[in-house]
Amino acid sequence: MWQNPSMPNSDGVVRVPRRQKGIVLTPQRLCVYETLSGMTGHPNIEEVHRSALKKMPTLSLNTVYSALSWLEGNGFVSAVPLRGAPKRYDSVMTGHHHLICVKCGKITDISDDVFSEKSLPSKIRKNHSVLGVDVIVKTVCGECK
Ligand SMILES: [Zn+2]
Ligand SMILES: [Zn+2]
Repeated sequence: MWQNPSMPNSDGVVRVPRRQKGIVLTPQRLCVYETLSGMTGHPNIEEVHRSALKKMPTLSLNTVYSALSWLEGNGFVSAVPLRGAPKRYDSVMTGHHHLICVKCGKITDISDDVFSEKSLPSKIRKNHSVLGVDVIVKTVCGECK
């Protein structure tokens, strides 16, 4: 699990203690991370930006964009893999799957145990090293039906 970063030290930079050794979180990245962690659902970049502005009014959309890319690349957040649509971010890093409404775009989490490595045919498991199962189920949600 994510360990809360320590307080900023004298140079204003927060160092994340355990899991991410040697990785330095700038105040901007920390702000974006904390903002996303406090949001429910799976916000897009604009939504994260709007919310982050309440904490750091000088943040530009570009900064949020690069902070999210960095956070994703370093395993702090994940993005829901949507084809042909703007990225939607997720601060829940424990394995889970997603239901996506093709009409309104609402994304709902599904628990990990619904689909897992064990759901895969043994032929696949035999010939491949399965690194993860990340299922997206396209739906029309109850409100859009
Ligand atoms: Zn819908
Ligand atoms: Zn999710």
